[in-house]
Parts: sequence; C-alpha cells; structure tokens
Amino acid sequence: MITRREVITVQNYILDITRRFFRDKDFLEIQSPIISTVTDPCLRGAETASIEYYGSKMKITSSMIFHKQFAASLFGKVFSISPNIRLESETKKKTKEHLAEFRQIEIEIAFSTYRDIMKLAEEFLVELTEEIDKKFQLRELPRGFKEYSYKEIVSKYGIEYGEEIPCDMEKTISEDRFIWVTEYPYGSRGFYDRDNGNGLLRDFDLLYPNGFGEASSGGEREYEYEKVKEKMLDLGLNLHDFKDYLDILESGKMKPTAGLGIGLERLTRYICGLESIEEATLFPRLPGVLSF
Ligand code: AMP
Ligand code: MG
Repeated sequence: MITRREVITVQNYILDITRRFFRDKDFLEIQSPIISTVTDPCLRGAETASIEYYGSKMKITSSMIFHKQFAASLFGKVFSISPNIRLESETKKKTKEHLAEFRQIEIEIAFSTYRDIMKLAEEFLVELTEEIDKKFQLRELPRGFKEYSYKEIVSKYGIEYGEEIPCDMEKTISEDRFIWVTEYPYGSRGFYDRDNGNGLLRDFDLLYPNGFGEASSGGEREYEYEKVKEKMLDLGLNLHDFKDYLDILESGKMKPTAGLGIGLERLTRYICGLESIEEATLFPRLPGVLSF
C-alpha cells in the first residue's frame, strides 16, 4: 500500500522532472491567472464558475487554453502548471478520474503542428517514466504508443460518429500502451481545435495504458478572428462572453499555436497505480462535495 505521503513525494518528482524537461528545451514557465473575463466554456458537460469582482463577474479559469495561446504568441514556447475549476456533474464522482478542482501541465508552442506536439509528449512521457522508475520502485510502466484515428475507433467500437469517446469506453479501448486518438470530426469539439478543411480537426486525445483514462487532449488552435467567431456561433455561444479574447484575435496578435494539457492528478494516479484520483491529492474536491 502506498501512503499519501509517498504519493505526494512522487508528485513532487513529477513536477521537478516536468519543469526540468521543458526548461531544458527553452520553454518559459508562465504563472496562469486564476480569474479572467474569459475562460474555456468546457463543452463536455462541466460548467464554469464565477466570482463577484468589484460589482461585476469574473470567471474562475477552467483551463489555460486562451492565455497560453497568447503567451505562446508572445514568447514562442511556454508551459504552466495551472489550477482549474470545473463544475463537473455529480455523477462524474463515480468515474474515479474527475475532480472539480485539478491542475494541468499546459504546453503551447507557436508555429507548431499537432504532430510536433505528439512527438514532444511521447518524449516527455518516456523520460518521465524512466526517471520515476529509477527513483521509485512502483510498478511496471509501459513505454509504447499506438495511434488510431478517431474514424478507426468509431468503426471498431461502434461509437456514433461525432460523439466524444465516453469515459467507460476509454477503458475498453485502452491497451498495455498509450493510445493516441487523432483527428476528431468538426462538431465533436469546442471551437478552438483547428480543422483541416475536410471536416476533420488537427487534434488528438491521449489515453493512458491499462484503463487509467484520458491523459491529455490537444492540437492546433484556431486563431483567425472570423473563423473563431463563425465556430462560436455554430456552437450557439454568445460572442459577448468571449469579447476580450476575440479582441486579441481581431488585433492580429494571436499567432498559430499548438499544444496540450495533461491533468496532474490523473498523471499522479496513473504513475502510482491508484484506485481513485481522490488519492492523488491531499485536498480532493469531488464534484458536488463541500470539503476543507
Ligand atoms: P480537457 O480540456 O477536458 O481535455 O482536459 C485536459 C486534461 O485535463 C484531461 O486530459 C485530463 O488529464 C485533465 N482533466 C480534465 N478534466 C478533469 C477533471 N474533472 N478532473 C481531473 N482532471 C481532469
Ligand atoms: Mg479531453
């Protein structure tokens, strides 16, 4: 049995290795904002939270997507360990992989492709696994990766075309290696995954080996004002809610970027082989549960 203290110690190492890995590659670490006028609308069922702010409302950030796009546009290569609040439905408590507050290792690179990001993620995860293996005697951690297109997954597992892969299905798909699922169809994701002009997106999900669920999502981003506006309207979003972000796009300051986010608590759960994500943090916020 691994103690909570040992889990947190492993997590400390994960963070050390992460920072070293990306700094060695000339990434700048950015401290992410916790509140903002604009945040990721989390179109996969979770709601965003707001706070009263000097007589107005500010969002509590649910991901760093828009801010890291901007940071990468300014600095080229950036990463961040960012806290996120997502009001997941209470039914998600049962998945053992959802918290309402969690952290992401966020990476974003300007003038990069989703293929570059996949390569970088593989290098990072192999190095992380090796370093952790050297330091701790945990359990056998696979090094392999296999890619399926979303289309292949849909026909193999009978998912309705255009649906996200359901959580329990991720366990069925999972193998004794990491699985990439690439090129989701337009319409299955939010507005910020860039499309290839043929109804597919230049994006991916990464699943952990052995049923530990989704490790990461990422891809190339839409950054052109007119295109983003059109996609937002397609999704029925209110453009006014994204005004500050759209203003940056309109100004031409946003560059083409690509990146991904890896949930820190899920990564810790996977590395330590924990039954539930609750065990991967000292202060878990389970959906719907009030806690200290
Ligand atoms: P998403 O933008 O929803 O794809 O989230 C990016 C990554 O953050 C996921 O691949 C997970 O690793 C992590 N993540 C997302 N939602 C949660 C959650 N509710 N609890 C813990 N980790 C999460
Ligand atoms: Mg995802």
